[in-house]
Amino acid sequence: MSEPKATGSLADLQEIIARHWGYRTLRPLQGQAMQAVLDRRDSLVVLPTGGGKSLCYQAPAVLRGGTTVVISPLIALMKDQVDSLRACGIAAVSIDSSLSANERFACEMDVRQGEVRLLFLSPERLVQTDFFRVLQQIEVCTFAIDEAHCISHWGHDFRPEYRQMSRLREFFPQATVHAYTATATEQVRADIIAQLALRDPVELVGNFDRPNLIYRILPRQDTLKQSLDVLERHEGEAGIIYCLRRRDVDELAASLQKKGIKARGYHAGMSGDERQNAQEAFASEQVDVIVATVAFGMGIDRSNVRFVLHAAMPKSLEHYQQETGRAGRDGLEAECVLLYSGGDLYSFRSILAKSAKEAGVETHLPHAFKHLDDMDRYCRGALCRHAALVRYFGQEYPGDSCNACDVCLGDTEAVPDATVVAQKILSCVARVKEGFGIGHVASVLRGENSENLRKRGHDKLTTFGLLRGHGKADVRDWVYQLIAQGVLVQVGDEYPLLRLNEASWEVMRGQRQVRLVQLVRRKKGEQPQKAKVETISWEGVDRALFEELRHLRRDLARDRQVAPFIVFTDNTLREMARMRPSTLERMRLIPGIGDRRLRDFGALFLQIVADYCRKHGLPFDVL
Ligand code: ADP
Repeated sequence: MSEPKATGSLADLQEIIARHWGYRTLRPLQGQAMQAVLDRRDSLVVLPTGGGKSLCYQAPAVLRGGTTVVISPLIALMKDQVDSLRACGIAAVSIDSSLSANERFACEMDVRQGEVRLLFLSPERLVQTDFFRVLQQIEVCTFAIDEAHCISHWGHDFRPEYRQMSRLREFFPQATVHAYTATATEQVRADIIAQLALRDPVELVGNFDRPNLIYRILPRQDTLKQSLDVLERHEGEAGIIYCLRRRDVDELAASLQKKGIKARGYHAGMSGDERQNAQEAFASEQVDVIVATVAFGMGIDRSNVRFVLHAAMPKSLEHYQQETGRAGRDGLEAECVLLYSGGDLYSFRSILAKSAKEAGVETHLPHAFKHLDDMDRYCRGALCRHAALVRYFGQEYPGDSCNACDVCLGDTEAVPDATVVAQKILSCVARVKEGFGIGHVASVLRGENSENLRKRGHDKLTTFGLLRGHGKADVRDWVYQLIAQGVLVQVGDEYPLLRLNEASWEVMRGQRQVRLVQLVRRKKGEQPQKAKVETISWEGVDRALFEELRHLRRDLARDRQVAPFIVFTDNTLREMARMRPSTLERMRLIPGIGDRRLRDFGALFLQIVADYCRKHGLPFDVL
């Protein structure tokens, strides 16, 4: 067995990272996080999704020698990490329930012989007494706890098995323990430190903004049409569409399939096999789009998800951050679109109230409602989305404009004469004697030709047709905006009615101004303004060559039964399609290509580049 080195320097580490991973620079806080491992200090590292947490324990494990044990909550996550380490030429295994007895025995032998640098385990496996003994024999002295928020009740993915890890200290008093998570709240951080009994840990908390994500929160008008608009911008790219209900998932997935889009549905009502199948098809790039309830996600490590679309508002900003976090894990630009309607708040309130009543946990409701209100306020807000999100998580956002959200990119605009529009809506509520809901009021205002209105004499009202010519979705949306501003009220659960309050009368008397927004009207086929991050990352990249390289990557990944990003990430392929290397030495300069990957895949990709450049008369080795 090779003895772990007492320490090592950051320069040694960088040499190892360049050799195995092909990275020549570190991301923020990676250096400090690795130093803590080398200095044998416990640590808690909080970095956003895609921030590069894995490298923080993987690279020191290679430098120090010995075996580092990594605890991870899901087999799929472990498999991706093990595949990825092996592709870098690093000895890694995971011992989990998917192994046969023979495979498990062989892995354990490798571990006993000290040949394994990184051993991935589930928390259940770790605490089995016989396994503890094996680990004690090989004198494990470094533990990395991935997705450490799973240990906390306050986190969104609490896993009771994680609690058993409190026993680590008993069995390995000399070992250092390093926890990694993307969940930033202080409560969760304190809980992780307490539960794992971390000793005077180095605490590193990164910047939570994800500048590569473009946030767009847009009024929901027609889910299918708006989804197709997003898909058009991301043709052939990976995306996840989140819906509230299973029925919505089935309907939307079927509609997209009919349009020829490679989409699959995913929800808890499907059989285990169907779900597994959809997940694998997505991970292996056979399918582009997954339409899912929020049941889908945690095991998904496809790094090149280029858009996440929420067909309805999530339950909390924590969920929103987690779900949008699945986009752009490779650091490249990705779009997060949320189709919002003020009605989402009320639908969710009644769903939550009903399920809390059934489960007899109505005391939880105020907490859940507060989260909903925060989410709703965020959606309605007219502040930069990046700034509002990081502020919610307790950080300051530098600057005023991100140039990567609907607010800063000017996707929506103020409705002209908003106060007059509001007065028309409120008067109509008064005219129908506060006895009807949004749909009916909108029909009257739009002057619809309907038997239902005639029957009640509502086609004779003075407010009939006052908003003629405006779309139903627009009028509904304005009504919700008025409710959100407190100048109109919705009462009742099943068939909510519109009621006026004191503020409504102030608006009608002209004593109070109102602001309403609407989507900027675009001509057919006209796309919204592009964010800076989108244009920069494609600069100089030959898209058709990128697609050819992607094709080869998909074939190689399928043969090797690994996910495509294990072969090369999208960043690496884009850089290859930009630089177009003529030799292996040149190719080695591309970030993400270490010695092993160059040897395994370099020549094949070089050939594609050479053929393509010759065919199209393109120059090589563009720096
Ligand atoms: P996290 O676990 O924090 O979500 P990962 O560890 O999966 O993030 O890393 C996200 C992506 O960034 C991976 O593709 C990884 O290889 C890449 N990456 C990590 N560190 C670096 C670095 N220093 N330079 C370039 N790419 C990096």
